[in-house]
Amino acid sequence: MQGRGVDEGRKERELSIYIHWPFCRSKCPYCDFMSIPKSDLDVNNSEEYKEVEFLLLKDLKNSLRELESPFVKTIFFGGGTPSLMSPQSMEKIINFVVKNYKTDSNIEISLEANPATFSRQKLREIREAGVNRLSLGVQSFHDRDLEFLGRIYDSEQAIKAAETVASTFSNYSFDFIFGYQSQTIDDLKNNLSMAVDFGCPHISCYQLTFEKGTPFFCLLQDGKINQITETQEVECFRFIQDFLKEFSLNRYEISNYALKNFESKHNLTYWRYKNYLGVGPSAHSRLVFGDKKYELKKFSDIDRWRESLYGNLSAYEEKNVLTDYEQLEEIFVMGLRLSEGISIKDLKSRFSDSMLNPILKRISLLSNENLFSNSETQIKLSENGVLKQNSVLEFLFN
Ligand code: SF4
Repeated sequence: MQGRGVDEGRKERELSIYIHWPFCRSKCPYCDFMSIPKSDLDVNNSEEYKEVEFLLLKDLKNSLRELESPFVKTIFFGGGTPSLMSPQSMEKIINFVVKNYKTDSNIEISLEANPATFSRQKLREIREAGVNRLSLGVQSFHDRDLEFLGRIYDSEQAIKAAETVASTFSNYSFDFIFGYQSQTIDDLKNNLSMAVDFGCPHISCYQLTFEKGTPFFCLLQDGKINQITETQEVECFRFIQDFLKEFSLNRYEISNYALKNFESKHNLTYWRYKNYLGVGPSAHSRLVFGDKKYELKKFSDIDRWRESLYGNLSAYEEKNVLTDYEQLEEIFVMGLRLSEGISIKDLKSRFSDSMLNPILKRISLLSNENLFSNSETQIKLSENGVLKQNSVLEFLFN
C-alpha cells in the first residue's frame, strides 16, 4: 500500500497507530483488557455499531490533527475482538490514514482475530481492505485447554481458523497461552508442532497471568486453581525457546518468536520506545509534542470517551509529561524484553552521564552475576537474566 510518499529524513516523526475495538462476544475469565462483552452486536444494521465506527474515526482524526507531520509506519487493530469489525470499517480507517498522511511504502497493517469470528470470505475481504498481517489468538488447539480458558470456540474451529489464516496471509502469527496446571509440556509441544506444521512465521507464547478483578484471580484467591511453580515456568520457557529455535523461529522478545523479517514491526515500536498513538477507549500513547515526551491515555469508560468526542474535546483522560528519569526507566522496562537489548549509543545521546552512570554501575554488578550479556554496543539480559527480569529492573531503578 502506497501513501502520499515517504519522509526518510524525519525519523522523529515516525508513528505507529493502535486502534482499540472495545467489544468481544464474551469475556474470557483471565482477561483484564478494556472490552465489553456483547454477543449480539450487529455489524450491518445496529446503530450502536455505526456510532462506534464513527467515533473511532473521529478520535483518529482529532488525534492525528494534533501531531506535526506524522509518518505512519504501522497500524494495528487490537482490542477487544477487532475481527468482529466489518472489513468496510477497517478499510475506512486505513484509507483515511493512507490518503491523508505520509506512510511507509511497506506499512504493516495488523489485525488481531479470534478464531470464532470470521469465515474464509470475510478474511479475504479483510485482506482486500488493506490488512497485511493477521494475528490469530488460537491460545490452544486442545478442547480441554480452550474450555479452561473460557474461549468461545473448540479445537476443530481453532484448526479450521488456523488453516484459513495460513492460506490467506503470508505474514501472520499464532498466539498461545501457557502456564496452567492442567497443561503438560506434551500439550504445549503439540500446540507448537501444529503451528510449525502450518508454516507459521511468527508465534507468541504468553504465560497465563492472574490479574486483579478477573474471575481467575478470585479462583486463585479461593484456592480453586493454582499457579504453576517457578520451576515449571522456567521449564516451559526453555522448552518453547529450544523447540521453536529448531524451526528457525528465534526469540526476539521475551514472549515472541519469528522467522527472520517476520517480527511484528508494530510491537517493536513499543519495545524500542518509539512514538505511538492509541485510538479508542482506554488506548495508551507515547508521543512527542514540542521537545517533551508524553504518556497519554484515552478514557477507559466508553461513555466518557463518547461524550468527550461529541463535545469535540480531546478524548484523553490522562496526559502527563515524562521526566528524563521516567523515560530512562521506561526504555529499560521495554528494551530489556528484546533479545537485541538497548543501544548504548542511543542512551548516551539522550541522557546525561549523571543520570546514566549509576544505572550502568548497577548493570556491571549484575553482569558479574551472569544476569547481563552485553555487547560492545548493546545492553541486554543473559538467558538467566531474562527469567529474572522483574528483580533486575527493581535493582536498577529502586
Ligand atoms: S477475546 Fe481477548 S480481549 Fe476479549 S475477553 Fe477474551 S482475552 Fe479479552
